[in-house]
Amino acid sequence: MNKQDILHLFDKYYGDRYEAYISSLKSEKKNYFFLVKDDHSKYLIVIGTHGICKDFEGDNLEEIKINNNELIVKRCCLDHRNLNLLRGIFPHLNPSFCGLKPSFGTGDRLGIATPAHLQAFQGKDIFPILAQQSVREMARTERNWQKVLDDAIWGCFETGYIGPFGADADHVKEIKELKEAADCGYTMFTLDPSDFIRNDIKKLDKQELDQLYNQIPNSKEIEGLHLSKSYKIKGQELVFDKKSLKEIILTYSEALNHVVKCYEFLKDYKKEKFDLEISVDETPTVTSPLAHLFVVLELQRRGVDFQNLALHFLGDWQKGIEYIGDVEQFSGEFSLHAAIARSIGGYKLSLHTGSDKFSVYPIFSQETDGLCHIKTAGTSWLEEAKVIAMKDPALYREIHRFALENFEKDRASYNLTTDLSRIPDIDTIADDELVNLFNQNDSRQLIHITYGSILRVKDNEEKYIFKDRIYKILFKYEEDHYRELSNHIRRHLELLKA
Ligand SMILES: [Zn+2]
Repeated sequence: MNKQDILHLFDKYYGDRYEAYISSLKSEKKNYFFLVKDDHSKYLIVIGTHGICKDFEGDNLEEIKINNNELIVKRCCLDHRNLNLLRGIFPHLNPSFCGLKPSFGTGDRLGIATPAHLQAFQGKDIFPILAQQSVREMARTERNWQKVLDDAIWGCFETGYIGPFGADADHVKEIKELKEAADCGYTMFTLDPSDFIRNDIKKLDKQELDQLYNQIPNSKEIEGLHLSKSYKIKGQELVFDKKSLKEIILTYSEALNHVVKCYEFLKDYKKEKFDLEISVDETPTVTSPLAHLFVVLELQRRGVDFQNLALHFLGDWQKGIEYIGDVEQFSGEFSLHAAIARSIGGYKLSLHTGSDKFSVYPIFSQETDGLCHIKTAGTSWLEEAKVIAMKDPALYREIHRFALENFEKDRASYNLTTDLSRIPDIDTIADDELVNLFNQNDSRQLIHITYGSILRVKDNEEKYIFKDRIYKILFKYEEDHYRELSNHIRRHLELLKA
């Protein structure tokens, strides 16, 4: 029996209750697996005669009779146990190593965006990092490593995607978190040593600097390795003079020690090949070309095999909106960073807070010749909020008002220049104009950064005020959700060379 026959049969028996995701259908040893939905939920349907069928946990539906054979039909929940069984049968559902291919991360805060993300990647030669969440985001969305990864894999299954994809444990600060993510099967780890990066160097006087410097156990040894070394890159000469080298060592040495410790742990603990990203983007100051050079030379000298490096690039990188700054000036400085990366070799440059920076993607991709990674996350959530504004204006208005109340509190952890007074009064906007709020920077950022409060808030009876309704609307208007979201991510991918 071919796959189409199975879907036909299922439709004949159950078509009045369930709608199948046709592209999800997969078979193995005369067992068939596909996703369906009813008015409320999605389910995995397993049809077969074979033993495999019995392993899945779910309800037995009425058997399907065909040529004197009876096929077991099981309706299963999209839970972790059933997903593990599927991953065992279909290895393409497991995330994998990316290496130096151009790549793009699509964080998904609600856990239902993967099918839309995959639509956007269609025909593009860019490696998708479909599961990507930071420790901070997970606290705000009440999710965990396993849930984030499982949701992305269910999304892959739904679309029938069989290509490779990665899973990025983003902005990890502690070994304990690395271990948890590795246990769940993550294939990429983004180390964030920002707690160990000194930001006060410029404020200290010479005596204080000397004192600190002498406390670093091997500062003299490191100094000896780099002092007066010069590198000719893109016609420019980069030299480690005494003063700047000292400052760089003071700024980064503890952070580098932390990275080495984390890497050593992963190398021993993670059995399969993994992608490692070192992110020094969350610093108050822009990473200088010389600091970039130092960090990479030191990581290589100490044997850290990393694939991505995220720097704090010139300009103002804010959530969910275009690049703020002089694009030409950025281009000039970035081309030097790209040239450093090319001349040393072996790693990609990574752009964080990478969504909606349409004016810089072509530069980023061309200068690095595709040796680049871009991370986006909140922009997918914004598209989802936009669909709510389109489909349930009343709910959107409630969310918007709530976001206004919480903005001051929630903005603390972000670099923003949002001015709430520029946002049009929600009470004077017609329903069909609400969608325009998503073209305006201030209202984009309002919704972008308050996601945690919006998703977590509960009423007196401990019920979520918005969360369940958000999922319900996006489920009901799934086609619109997928279309808007994939179009938006596609706009990003189109500007990257691939
Ligand atoms: Zn970052």
